[in-house]
Amino acid sequence: MRRYSVFLFCIALIASVLPARAEPIKVVATFSILGDLVRNVGGDNVAVTTLVGPDSDAHVYSPTPADARKIADARLIVVNGLGFEGWLRRLVQSSGSKARIVTASNGISTLRLGSVVDPHAWQSVNNTKIYVANISMALAAADPAAAEQFVKNSQAYIAKLDALDREVREAVARLPPDRRKVISTHSAFGYFAASYGIEFIAPLGVSTESEPSARDIAKIITQIRRAKIPAVFLENVSDPRLMQRISAETGARVGGTLYSDGLTGEKGDAPTYIEMVRHNIKALTRALGD
Ligand code: ZN
Repeated sequence: MRRYSVFLFCIALIASVLPARAEPIKVVATFSILGDLVRNVGGDNVAVTTLVGPDSDAHVYSPTPADARKIADARLIVVNGLGFEGWLRRLVQSSGSKARIVTASNGISTLRLGSVVDPHAWQSVNNTKIYVANISMALAAADPAAAEQFVKNSQAYIAKLDALDREVREAVARLPPDRRKVISTHSAFGYFAASYGIEFIAPLGVSTESEPSARDIAKIITQIRRAKIPAVFLENVSDPRLMQRISAETGARVGGTLYSDGLTGEKGDAPTYIEMVRHNIKALTRALGD
């Protein structure tokens, strides 16, 4: 973070001798959560579009011709990396885009899920602070005239993330230790689990592409009974009927929806990253409390 401050100071110094630019820079974010982070850092100085919109699944996304045009127009493309956007490289190549690509997850400590890197690093709020720092540096490099504003915006947003991180820790601390475990539809909460100490047992693999077999479901049901798992959760990206059946056969509480890979639309429960984390911790607290 110190190197980051020095870098931003230099950029701000350069910016102070440049004429002001009015035109917002065009930034493409690959999915809704990144789009929200870019908006918070960029403010009025950026025009953000996202490829994978609210309530959609980036794992199984197929880019459209409109996406190629957005990419071709962009000055900067913000990606998660860690293998999350497998479809991006071909899209960038076919669009002929000259945009710089910034990997928001650069510098985080990665976790593994079996043999692959777990891409869902934003589920730890402290990782998201690193995302914000990376985005801020990339925006400052793309638009030095607005660098000072990006610094201010990112500092204000990071302060909110610090408060959010504390909020999550306090909420988990209030749960009985033997009830801090849930079943969730896909393994999106490894970083959340590692940061906050709630165990997530996922019936599906890392990707939502594979559907569980009848035998998988039987195994899960046995697992819930044996480990006395108090709650199961539905995500906005997987088949909810699976969870309902498991719940009916085990008596585990169905805890509602946890949002993992995408925000909701504006009228939904999780229209921003901060609201998503807050929604998730409320849902967990309700399902796992006494
Ligand atoms: Zn996912």
